Amino acid sequence: MTDFAATKALFHLPDGMIYLDGNSLGPLPKTTAARVARAVTDEWGEKVITGWNRAGWMAQPTEMGDRIGRLIGAEAGHVVLGDTLSIKVYQALAAAIDLVPDRKVILTDSGNFPSDIYMAEGLIRSLGRGHELRVVDPQKVADHIDDDLAVLMLTQVDYRTGRLHDMAALTAKAHEAGAVTVWDLAHTAGAMAVDLAGCAADFAVGCTYKYLNAGPGAPAFIYVAPRHIETCQPALSGWLGHEAPFAFDLDYRPGTGIERMRVGTPPVLQMAALDAALDIWDSVDMDALRAASVALTEQFIAGIEAACPMLTLASPRDPAARGSQVSFRFADGYAAMQACIAQNLIGDFRAPDIMRFGFTPLFIDAGDVDRAIAIVSDVMTNRLWDDPQFKTRARVT
Ligand SMILES: *Cc1c(COP(=O)(O)O)cnc(C)c1O
Repeated sequence: MTDFAATKALFHLPDGMIYLDGNSLGPLPKTTAARVARAVTDEWGEKVITGWNRAGWMAQPTEMGDRIGRLIGAEAGHVVLGDTLSIKVYQALAAAIDLVPDRKVILTDSGNFPSDIYMAEGLIRSLGRGHELRVVDPQKVADHIDDDLAVLMLTQVDYRTGRLHDMAALTAKAHEAGAVTVWDLAHTAGAMAVDLAGCAADFAVGCTYKYLNAGPGAPAFIYVAPRHIETCQPALSGWLGHEAPFAFDLDYRPGTGIERMRVGTPPVLQMAALDAALDIWDSVDMDALRAASVALTEQFIAGIEAACPMLTLASPRDPAARGSQVSFRFADGYAAMQACIAQNLIGDFRAPDIMRFGFTPLFIDAGDVDRAIAIVSDVMTNRLWDDPQFKTRARVT
């Protein structure tokens, strides 16, 4: 079991703030500043270039990959860190397409995060081999899995509604049809247990700045199933994915195992922040996390529905069908969320009308949820949002 009062004490949470946005950018662990400072002064400062060997910088992407691997049910040695999630989507999809060379259809859903769709479109354009991206309703994905399908590319938890896809069932169905799968775990990794190996998932990607708390700009991760890794051809064939980067050969040969999914120099300072964040995760039991997350989301939904009839639940009511976030629809959702933020309740707004709240048991407890319900109900029943100061949209919503 995990003691969530103890994990809460490991985070710096701004005074008086209720932070229901850890699904978008996790807060600062208290050890991060010192860990990053050590990477700057002791490692970069004192070791300079010898840090690649003497501070272990070169090994960090796979070592930390294994620590994340435990959270997502990956086999050891099959997860590596680097780049941003958009890049990792491109890389995984390109490798997946190559595994099914005689088919042209890539299937995704309209709830997917736009960057995943944009990356797929860009990849299809640059391949120029006539691939087609089919974007269907999230509820209809299973119906569109047929013998034309090359790749099923899905984000498991919908960033707006929190709707959770059944990874085991959809992966099995895709495999029966002869397709391969790319799972984006952006809103799953650190939100609940994932069993990539048990589901026989082919590829998975995710980021570390959301639920994993590694900070803005932290690197993404990619997983490739053991049965594919020695045959998949990296489309982004950078030198650090080469079999022998320091041979400086003029021809590319993919590296051994998951190393081939590396591209270039890893973000070492950001890796130090990830290292500190993963120290917390190393002690977390994922089943206990899920149970706590379900309790918090159930409490929030019950409280908001009782107090705010003008808000419509946009998330699945069944906790088994949702991730670790809860969203409500409201026509003036942007202004309403700004009014909540003015009272130090931080959630976010997703166009066109979604007020989104993330629940992260590592640092959010039942008392926070009670206070959040009180603030939302004050904002809604007293129409505090109906004020010009809350209606001008900022660059980042
Ligand atoms: C957050 C998120 C991204 C962001 O990609 P970056 O390249 O890290 O900016 C991409 N896809 C999904 C599904 C996300 O939730």
